[in-house]
Amino acid sequence: MKTLLINAEKCIDCRNCQTACKDEHCDNDWSPIAAIQSPKQYWIKIQNVEAGDGSRVEMQRTQLVCQHCADAPCIKVAKNGAVYRRADGLVIIDPEKAQGQRAIMEACPYHAVYWNPELDIPQKCTMCAHLRDAGRDPRCVTACPTDALKIVDSEDVIDSTLLPASVELLHPEYKTQPQVLYQSLPRPFIAGEACTADGKACLANVKVTATHQILGLEYRDVTDAFGEFKLKGLEPGFYTVSFEKDGYDYKVLANMDATESINLDAVKLYALV
Ligand code: SF4
Ligand code: SF4
Repeated sequence: MKTLLINAEKCIDCRNCQTACKDEHCDNDWSPIAAIQSPKQYWIKIQNVEAGDGSRVEMQRTQLVCQHCADAPCIKVAKNGAVYRRADGLVIIDPEKAQGQRAIMEACPYHAVYWNPELDIPQKCTMCAHLRDAGRDPRCVTACPTDALKIVDSEDVIDSTLLPASVELLHPEYKTQPQVLYQSLPRPFIAGEACTADGKACLANVKVTATHQILGLEYRDVTDAFGEFKLKGLEPGFYTVSFEKDGYDYKVLANMDATESINLDAVKLYALV
């Protein structure tokens, strides 16, 4: 199936995708695929979350769209076949048959369906099915300046090594078999700076290792010329973090809570005497 691949980390929050979606759908009636989009809706929505604290903060983003689920709750609650899956896998709400059916909006665990009060219908991203039928990419995809959004063949992505980062699903725990693919979804990090015991000099080339205390997963980094380290893409949980450098005492910090990103600030290492 052709689907959307979203690299969350490449998104720069320019919102070109949202503008393009509005340009395509707010003044145009693409029935029976989609009626005119209500201006208050965002069929693609950028969710920003601030991660870390102090001087080590980053903005992490998730791009929310309809996931075109293979086991879609919206299809299950719809009456009269008002929501259906096409042969190409796209989940479509029929604007005529869906009139008055608020249950379609309420069934979506991703909150990807919006209510149009003027037309009295639920609406959502169609993956620009009307353009796909004409052999064209969705408007949000062509508008993205960083290639954070792409149309790919899901079999190619899963079976090949063409892509640099592994592919993830958004909230697989909802068990709806979402078909939109993601890379680099927001995850916690542990960052800080290694320095001498008196705090006067930063320490480069310190080996930093974080070990998940339950799962045993290991993440490694080496401090740069400014003593900075950042262990990224962590599985949320509690970690033991170790610091290793020739000529210095081995240092261990236990029970570091990385259910959210943490800034360890200055980590002091003591020189061996
Ligand atoms: Fe339906 Fe929501 Fe899944 Fe889209 S994300 S197919 S609206 S359940
Ligand atoms: Fe909007 Fe089309 Fe992008 Fe969906 S695929 S968010 S309908 S522009």
